[in-house]
Amino acid sequence: MTYEELYCRGRDRLTAVGIEEAELDARLLLEYICGTDRNELLVHGDREVEDGKRTAYEELLAGREKRIPLQYLTGVQVFMGLEFLVNEAVLIPRQDTEILVEEVLRYLHDGMRILDMCTGSGCILISLLYYTNDCEGVGLDISETALKVAEENRGKLLGGELQERHGRIHFEQSDLFEQAAGLFDVIVCNPPYIRTDELRTLMPEVGKYEPVNALDGGEDGLSFYRKIVEESKKHLCGGGMLFFEIGCEQAEAVCGLMKSAGFEAINVVKDYSGLDRIVYGTRGFA
Ligand code: GLN
Repeated sequence: MTYEELYCRGRDRLTAVGIEEAELDARLLLEYICGTDRNELLVHGDREVEDGKRTAYEELLAGREKRIPLQYLTGVQVFMGLEFLVNEAVLIPRQDTEILVEEVLRYLHDGMRILDMCTGSGCILISLLYYTNDCEGVGLDISETALKVAEENRGKLLGGELQERHGRIHFEQSDLFEQAAGLFDVIVCNPPYIRTDELRTLMPEVGKYEPVNALDGGEDGLSFYRKIVEESKKHLCGGGMLFFEIGCEQAEAVCGLMKSAGFEAINVVKDYSGLDRIVYGTRGFA
């Protein structure tokens, strides 16, 4: 079978089960299996694909038909221009979360100490350190299997010499702030924020395959914000900043929580669809 024939077969199989981006997914999986890029598939569409690769492609298609997210099949997701390893132990890094990282980067200075709460794949903390110099990063998560992925990403993206240039980073298992030591200049967090009753309405890729403890924000979706806002005051220096990603209907509630806890200069930032996505504020000096 040729590239072209295999691609068409993949596209048709994924279309038949109602996958919206069937064409894109069929192509990306084929590129992944054949180790080629789009140009090669286009220009050499009539080239024969060896049987081993064909079988491997068919296996991935079967996974995608079951709605396994593409990123868990290929094992990677690009975030902030860096290729992160992912598996079913971690939330797949989202484009919206890049806005959170970009917002934090506006305020980071060399030498700052950063805490990434609910670090998951480590995508936020690793990106922050990658794009700054000499900061210190601590990533906490309750899930040991997620922390393994974060460690692998640290080795892949900030290993060796890079680590010296970009600063120190370590990951640790911790139930929220339990293991957080010392004061931080910045605390950043993309917590689970989906209401428990909404979990069953999620698309199967998310609801069936992404880790529920990375999604479930409790009865009103705000339970992590409540705990983290309150606790974070003890772990921030005077003038230190707390940054959250939020669900698009949570800005008012999260701003309210931060205000009651004494945070100042509270701001909301929108995502590329014009929806509220980030809330941040400053801990006063008192
Ligand atoms: N910090 C990770 C991310 O933003 C994981 C977040 C989570 O598990 N809720 O992708």
